[in-house]
Amino acid sequence: MPRNRVQHQKGLSDDAFERLYPDEEACRRAWFAWRWPEGFKCPRCAASEYCEIHDRQLLQCRRCRYQTSLIAGTVLQGTKLPMRVWFRAMHLLAQGKKGLSNIELGRRLGISTNAAWRIQHKLMQAMIERDRRYMLGAAGPRIEIDDAYIGGERTGEGTGRGRRGQTPFIIAVETSSDGRPLYTRLQVVRGFQAGETKRLCARVVAGTTVVSDGGQWFRCIAEQPGIVHQRHVTGSDRSAARHPAFRWANTMLANIKNSLLAAHRVVAAKHLPRYLGAFAWRFNRRFVLKTIHERLAIAATTTPPMPYRLLKLAEARW
Ligand SMILES: [Zn+2]
Repeated sequence: MPRNRVQHQKGLSDDAFERLYPDEEACRRAWFAWRWPEGFKCPRCAASEYCEIHDRQLLQCRRCRYQTSLIAGTVLQGTKLPMRVWFRAMHLLAQGKKGLSNIELGRRLGISTNAAWRIQHKLMQAMIERDRRYMLGAAGPRIEIDDAYIGGERTGEGTGRGRRGQTPFIIAVETSSDGRPLYTRLQVVRGFQAGETKRLCARVVAGTTVVSDGGQWFRCIAEQPGIVHQRHVTGSDRSAARHPAFRWANTMLANIKNSLLAAHRVVAAKHLPRYLGAFAWRFNRRFVLKTIHERLAIAATTTPPMPYRLLKLAEARW
């Protein structure tokens, strides 16, 4: 059972993490290597020669004299917090199976709840941007998709569609030929409509089989170029939710409920795309827990900065 392999997977312990990144200097060195794996590259002229000025807070290109910093142009741009705080946040957010509330994150980092909220949302945005680049079906031949609701008074399956105060989303789980789950995508939608299904299919590799139930908004899958549609018409009662064709989509939904409700009692609907995106990002990297903080850091170095104003808005749609 793959789930057991995940549960027994050892992540990076807090001790090991502190030994790897004991101070600002170690963090800056690591960040430099993640941002410029082939050595420094001037953002303006792409030259590789540089010098450090102002106690290494700035890097200056030797050719065009353009000044940049380690964090300019990344998700960390403009931060007043030590890099070590960000590193700890990456460690906590990437390792945590259940996710963390901003209150808990703030407490563990020794910063205010608001500052923790900003860090959390910026890093979750980096997770989303990274996973957006992945085409479903790139590793497995089959994708289960299902519709679900979350939020409002209670989280439920796709039955009783259209509950008030609930946010609809599509769960997609890519599986291997022997039926193991590989990757997931959780796409918040404006409503269950063909347009949203097409949007999901646009990010699916040609030749993939997409398995869905008989929902109207899934009918269009058959018309998407290169995609084979396998439709299981099921009833709308509880037994439908247990149909073996949607085993992983259903398992995923149960895990999302547990995870989100455990960490965040209430999640504002406009921020749900980010929480779901973060959940999917962690799931997609459940076998690489030892280096998962590095993967988040690399995503953060390649994600453009996001102003607080935009963070507060729902800017995280797939
Ligand atoms: Zn330059």
